[in-house]
Amino acid sequence: MSNPIPPEYFKAGSIASRVRESIRKSVTSDARIIDICEEVESMIGDLGGKPAFPCNVCINDIAAHYTAEPADKGRLHDNDIVKIDIGVQVEGYVADTATTVSFDPRFVDLLDATEVTLNEALSAAKEGVRLGEIGRIVSDCSKRRGFRPIVNLSGHSLDRYKIHAGKSIPNSWVPGSVQFTHGEVYAIEPFLTLPDGAGLVREGSKTTIFSMITRKRTGDKDLDRLCDTIWSRYRTLPFAIRWLNDVLEPVDTRSLISKLIKRKIIRGYAVLVEEKGKPVAQFEHTVVLAEDGTKIITK
Ligand code: MN
Ligand code: MN
Repeated sequence: MSNPIPPEYFKAGSIASRVRESIRKSVTSDARIIDICEEVESMIGDLGGKPAFPCNVCINDIAAHYTAEPADKGRLHDNDIVKIDIGVQVEGYVADTATTVSFDPRFVDLLDATEVTLNEALSAAKEGVRLGEIGRIVSDCSKRRGFRPIVNLSGHSLDRYKIHAGKSIPNSWVPGSVQFTHGEVYAIEPFLTLPDGAGLVREGSKTTIFSMITRKRTGDKDLDRLCDTIWSRYRTLPFAIRWLNDVLEPVDTRSLISKLIKRKIIRGYAVLVEEKGKPVAQFEHTVVLAEDGTKIITK
């Protein structure tokens, strides 16, 4: 008998699921990005969790890694396809889930195909199954539906205070012997685009999400003070500039963070954009491989 799944995962999962369903139902076609992010993050707190990363709101060809900037002016439009990706942590145990919404009927099939693809992948997530098998299912299922998976984005194993704990769950078939393992936690997240998309993302010019790589003294009072704050609040989990509004002016936070990136103390996660500018949909759930089978904790 190996280590039981910490119960905090189930609490984080249930909070993440409630928040996702609430925002999915309440979001309007002209909502401000910053309002969506702040509502998601405050709901997480109200339900007894903490955000595991800044709420991601990624519109159209932006596939991942966009969160609202301080005083972000961006908002949704009637014809957008919008991915909302939510992370909740309870004592460092993380649940990661995402949904896609659109008010434009031309995206109904893409949304539907992505959700069906996720469900097929989830039913295959069992101890001993190779992670590459999920990639094969995602690839087959999305193509059968007339779409294309984004092959350089993947799901991942999770661990305490770690969103990417070392194992990737591909969205295309890849050879390899790594298997789903009892006692582990995984996020499965197919991203689909149109058949004439590249099926790849590239890094865009903006970076809105950051995390601490290592904690070390810099000899600079301002940098050390910011590092202390980030470490005490977020450890190595991702954060946004606007989360530090109570400490520093956003312009100062950004310039100190640039210095910390140069010193390899902090890393940035560039926004990821579909290479041919095609719209992207994403659905994501977190599963635990418990004693009595696979449980979707964010259902
Ligand atoms: Mn996610
Ligand atoms: Mn994820």
